[in-house]
Amino acid sequence: MILLSGRLPRAAAADGALSAETRRAAILLRDKAFARTGASGWARSLTDRVGPRPAGSAGDRAAVAWALAAMKSAGLSRVRAEKVIVPVWKRGVETGSIVSPYPQPLVLTALGGSIPTPPDGLEAEVLEVSSIEDLESRAESARGRIVFFDKKMARALDMSGYSRAVDVRDQGASAAAKAGAVGALIRSIGTDRNRTPHTGGVTYAEGVPRIPAAALSIPDAELLERIVAEGRPVRVRFTLGCAPQADAESANVVGEIPGRGKEPEIVLLGAHLDSWDLGTGAIDDGAGCGIVLEAARAIIDSRMRPARTIRVVLFANEEHGLSGGKSYREAHLAELGRHVAALEADSGSGRPLALSWLAGASAEPALRELAGILEPLGGQTPRASARAKALMR
Ligand SMILES: [Zn+2]
Repeated sequence: MILLSGRLPRAAAADGALSAETRRAAILLRDKAFARTGASGWARSLTDRVGPRPAGSAGDRAAVAWALAAMKSAGLSRVRAEKVIVPVWKRGVETGSIVSPYPQPLVLTALGGSIPTPPDGLEAEVLEVSSIEDLESRAESARGRIVFFDKKMARALDMSGYSRAVDVRDQGASAAAKAGAVGALIRSIGTDRNRTPHTGGVTYAEGVPRIPAAALSIPDAELLERIVAEGRPVRVRFTLGCAPQADAESANVVGEIPGRGKEPEIVLLGAHLDSWDLGTGAIDDGAGCGIVLEAARAIIDSRMRPARTIRVVLFANEEHGLSGGKSYREAHLAELGRHVAALEADSGSGRPLALSWLAGASAEPALRELAGILEPLGGQTPRASARAKALMR
């Protein structure tokens, strides 16, 4: 899925459609992309040669070097690394077990940003809840417990299942701490059936005690669910050795296709270069890096010169606090008004499912026409995002 934000050029809005020249260029680029795309090659190169690249790690530094070289080889101009200071968090030992009534190991992993447990672990009785709302309705039972958020992610073609489930990963620990809990466990946010727990960031709310937070693999969450359902007290112990480290330097990697005619105006194509540490970030967001690099390469190869400057940005640290996006805004404050559109690719790869945008109603006619040109990619219907609808009101 691609989000388009900002405002469309006035001419397009006034005509209510694209110019004949823009249409021709869009069709040509679409057909070229169908004939041959190198997007997966970029993603493969990043994930195979750099591997995991959490903010501030050696992999992160290698990814910045990779992106500089990739942009140059794609033919982008003014390729540079723009400094970003990132928070660093390092995973350590992580073990878990059911202590009683049936002692056995649990496979879990710390949520990104979690504080550690005491070195010999954290043990308490489990309170299982199905959601944050469920916890809030039984908050008095959470004191001194490890809250187990057993919220199931529904399988869906789009990201709706993920969006509905992910609040317990992001906010569950603070919701549990507010009710007096000493630790938080979640069922991994995913739909697989293997014994691999999924990480992802936890956000600690201001003014609430911080408690350790980890994700159980789905089979382990289902085991715990069955044992809790027997109705007897269930005690769990887990140990996390993760810890925040000193801030480090990373970079947003930026390259451009200079415009001709309206070059001060900027169309931004973005993706994020960092990943979590447990995998190589092929989907999140190696795919997005491949998509935007290949889009730029195809435009450069077509020898058509865009009117506006196209700026490709591979952002630092999206996963652990969005430092890359925030730094970009600060560094480019003076020219923010010249950004006429920004597209971000951060929803994996595969057939497009929708074209949604954050822009005013004046963008709609041109976007509908663009969506028509892109229809062979998957018959998507353009739709304004909820935020765009709010802006239009
Ligand atoms: Zn992402």
